[in-house]
Amino acid sequence: MSYTGPDFEPTPPRRRRRPLTVAVAALVPGALLGWLVYETTGGTGGSGEDPGARRAAASSPAAPSGPGSPSGSPDRGDEKPSPSSSPSAASTSPLQGKVVVIDPGHNPANFRHPSEINSKVDIGTARKECDTTGTSTNGGYTEAEFTLDVAHRLRTLLQQQGATVKLTHDADRPFGPCIDERARIGNQARADAVVSIHADGSGTGNRGFHVILPASVHQGAADTRPIVASSRDLGERIAGNFVRATGSAPSNYVGDGTGLVTREDLGGLNLSTVPKVFIECGNMRDSKDAAQLTSDSWRQKAARGISEGIVGFLRG
Ligand code: ZN
Repeated sequence: MSYTGPDFEPTPPRRRRRPLTVAVAALVPGALLGWLVYETTGGTGGSGEDPGARRAAASSPAAPSGPGSPSGSPDRGDEKPSPSSSPSAASTSPLQGKVVVIDPGHNPANFRHPSEINSKVDIGTARKECDTTGTSTNGGYTEAEFTLDVAHRLRTLLQQQGATVKLTHDADRPFGPCIDERARIGNQARADAVVSIHADGSGTGNRGFHVILPASVHQGAADTRPIVASSRDLGERIAGNFVRATGSAPSNYVGDGTGLVTREDLGGLNLSTVPKVFIECGNMRDSKDAAQLTSDSWRQKAARGISEGIVGFLRG
């Protein structure tokens, strides 16, 4: 399945570089911390699933207990009738009143609708195809399945923090949405943050994640100037927490080791009026990255990293 779609031309592989930890330090202190811990504790390089200890850590974070954990509430049994008004509920619902839109990249059924997804839409700076099929691992696990799975995990984590969460689609439509509609859904929800979930389709040996930030564009219907700074903040926080939660390194083929890339050719970013980033969680065409992307426990870590980045952004 080709990855030559309009919203994601494969970024030309660059010469591999060592991660520039100094640059990471300047941009994302959290990422540096996580990365250094990873380095000094002898990270495995992520070849496959981590052994049991880290899997357990992923499934039972020491984070504030969620609503399903009554033992975490000291007010249990007193006369307060509404959990939402109790101090303990407030402390476990830090995202109360916040709206997060999650955009699972592509759609598992896009391949059945080539003419629809190939029709052009206006992204302000250009006209581009409505949507693409996305990539897949060599074993046939599709990017569209991956993005929905991570989106569901992320939705649960954010709801546990009290956020109102909306998905741009849930495999509940025959194709798409188109990239312009994906942006509109976030705008119309007046989302406090939007994240578009993807996995890349680059060459073997190209590894790691990167977060894509909107460039400043002002052309046609596109005007990202009001969201460039806030989106960068959101993206840096997601990158830092993604490193910490997954142990994955920033991309070794784009972003010069920072895990951050700015692009001006993505309709989903150009048309957004609310803070928004994309994340490419790894490279589906690299066998080591693919082993992670196909692992349930790794995807849970990925969702947790993204969630913690969003929480940090929304709490300021
Ligand atoms: Zn994609």
